[in-house]
Order: sequence, then C-alpha cells, then structure tokens
Amino acid sequence: MEKMAISDKDTLLVIDVQRDFCAAGALAIPDGDAVVPIVNQLAQHFRHVILTQDWHTPGHHSFAASHVHRHPYETIQAPYGEQTLWPDHCVQGTPGADFHPDLDIPHAELILRKGFRPNIDSYSAFLENDKTTPTGLAGYLRERGFQRIFLVGLAYDYCVRFSAVDAVRAGFSAFVIEDACRAVGLPGSVEATGQEFAELGVKRIQATDIQPCLESNFSSAGLS
Ligand SMILES: [Zn+2]
Repeated sequence: MEKMAISDKDTLLVIDVQRDFCAAGALAIPDGDAVVPIVNQLAQHFRHVILTQDWHTPGHHSFAASHVHRHPYETIQAPYGEQTLWPDHCVQGTPGADFHPDLDIPHAELILRKGFRPNIDSYSAFLENDKTTPTGLAGYLRERGFQRIFLVGLAYDYCVRFSAVDAVRAGFSAFVIEDACRAVGLPGSVEATGQEFAELGVKRIQATDIQPCLESNFSSAGLS
C-alpha cells in the first residue's frame, strides 16, 4: 500500500493512554505500555493531536464495586443497555487517571475527558454509552475542518473501537493504526471489533503506512 501523507485536515486521536490501563494499573491492558513509544513517534507526523482521558467519578456506575454481588468483567443491564463492569479505574484526580508518564505529545491541542457522568459510561470519544449523549468532539472536529481521524491507544476493542465507529457515523473517515493499539481481549471482543470495522468502513492500517512528515517534530519550539 502506498504510504499515507498526513495533511492539515487530519488529526490523531490518542485514546486513554493512562496509568490505570498500563502495567500495574487498576485495569491493566495486556502489553498496554507498548503503545507509548509508537504513539509518541506517530504524533511527530501530525500537526494536530487530540488526547482523551477516561475520567470517572468515585463509585462510578461502570465499576463492579458499585454494585452488590457483582464482579469485574460481568455484564449488567443499565437503563441504556448492556454495560460491562470494570475494576475501579481512572477516578478523577487520582494518579491512575494521569496520562502514562512517558507519553510525550506536548503539541496536543485538546484533552477530551469522558465518562464523568456518574451513571453513564463512555467508551467512545464521541457519544456516551447511551449512544445519544454527545461529548462535543464531533462539533469540535467539524468546526476546525478536520476530515480524517487516525486513532491509536487503549483499548482497541473498547474505547478505540467505539470511537472509530462513532467517527464514521458522524461523517468522518476513520483509520485505526492497529500496532499502536492494544486490546482488553474479553471473549470475542477483538473479532467483533474487526467485523464492525469492516461493516462500517473503518480502515485498519499500521504505523508504517503513515508517510513520515518531512517537517516532523511538531513539538519543537518555534513552530508557527
Ligand atoms: Zn472507564
């Protein structure tokens, strides 16, 4: 495949590269830390980068511990549909909610927090899990004239998946850079992700498919 040149209409959406999703975190994703150097490198080829941050209230509805006799990774029926329960993670203002200490993208233009409503989870950076409450990201991207969204981060089969699907549904082109993601890997979750991407036209690429930008290192001082 010909390498993809990145333009001013493109943005890199870095999903939830936070301590709690990495090694020794409360909801550690297998090999989650491995995305950090790849994401840092990729970000050098994008002038525009957006970071998302899972940002839950204490006792959030998506935490197993908030429900009687429930365990992490079980599913419950929430008023808005099925909800997987998770260990407590990414609680607002706690060290686990911080970005990975090695994530190095000082030129990121927006940090979008999600999952802050106590009774609704938000895997997607666009719509909360009730599929109707917007985060405002689609409006932000449209107003700034972005057309193609490149997604990386954690986790491939949840927050990256839902964000990519909603990006397409909102009218953007979505490209998931797969080697810059890692999956939770609950039974069937990765397969279902690939199937949904194929159905909706989310494209799956690798980091090497991106053409290195000659004017790279957007984080360096003196950039206009
Ligand atoms: Zn969460």
